[in-house]
Amino acid sequence: MSAISIAIVGFGKIARDQHVPALDANGAFELIAVASPHSRLDRLPHYGDIQALLQALPQLSAVSLCTTPQVRYQAARYALEQGRHVLLEKPPGATVSEVLELVRLARQRGVALFAAWHSRFARAVEPARAWLRGRRIRSLAVNWKEDVRVWHPGQRWIWEAGGLGVFDPAINALSILTRIIPGGLILKDAELSFPANCQTPIAALLQLACADGAPVRVALDFLQTGPPSWDIDVDTEGGRLSLRKGGSLMRVDERPVELPPSEEYPQLYAHFAQLQLVADAFLCGRRVQVAPFGEG
Ligand code: NAP
Repeated sequence: MSAISIAIVGFGKIARDQHVPALDANGAFELIAVASPHSRLDRLPHYGDIQALLQALPQLSAVSLCTTPQVRYQAARYALEQGRHVLLEKPPGATVSEVLELVRLARQRGVALFAAWHSRFARAVEPARAWLRGRRIRSLAVNWKEDVRVWHPGQRWIWEAGGLGVFDPAINALSILTRIIPGGLILKDAELSFPANCQTPIAALLQLACADGAPVRVALDFLQTGPPSWDIDVDTEGGRLSLRKGGSLMRVDERPVELPPSEEYPQLYAHFAQLQLVADAFLCGRRVQVAPFGEG
């Protein structure tokens, strides 16, 4: 089977650090171009925007949208309208309405739309989910703190409306939480700290509750100096689960748990390749009529 031709739109830090190596290592994809207003990858053709990219390359079947979140919806909408499969870096849009509209459009066009919550592919996430199943949670604490000057140097967009501020990294924690905890989470209280010159918060303290009422405390801070804290601790009636380093390490009652080797972005693209194949099968497959189906 031939590789899926793909281009990266928005060639910033995450595109360079993670998407290019993950795509280069995955035989299911062929990275053939980049579209970004200024940044380029020297070995590949470059386009200034997604319109120029898709017009120039009709054979291109997928795009990874690694732009700032504020411009993602327009780019995604255009790509879907042009019948291309779309991977959305997190967050999938600036608003929920944007994302719902993209879902509707993707369904209508029969193409894959993949909201890539990369932290859900961290090694400890599925083992943690399995460990928590059937264990009653007493309380849960999230500490997601990093030095914004180290991890987001010069990223002015993060402080502008739609840029999410400290929630840009914090949604990684929330994407893990909502995967590993059985049942939903409800927000009880939130305190958000905004610098006088910014539209988005630099720190936050959230109080949430699990479906059965167990308290969840989420502390976020962009002004932590030194090593980052990307930690989740869950106290249960059957022991204490700790995730460290963004979900890549797991401990139970302080004892390390051995985890299968795996990395977030390679796993993420493996998943996207499967989604595309399903969408392709619906697009190109022949319809065969079989016996009517009923529950009775
Ligand atoms: P970044 O380094 O600031 O890169 C953003 C890129 O978006 C810039 O290179 C810019 O291109 C491009 N861009 C802006 N407007 C565009 C447009 N209209 N069309 C095409 N490209 C456009 O930010 P980043 O850290 O890579 O983050 C990008 C996204 O990935 C964010 O949503 C972030 O939450 C997510 N993410 C980041 C990380 C991380 O560790 N940094 C991890 C996971 C996910 P030019 O350079 O050409 O101007």
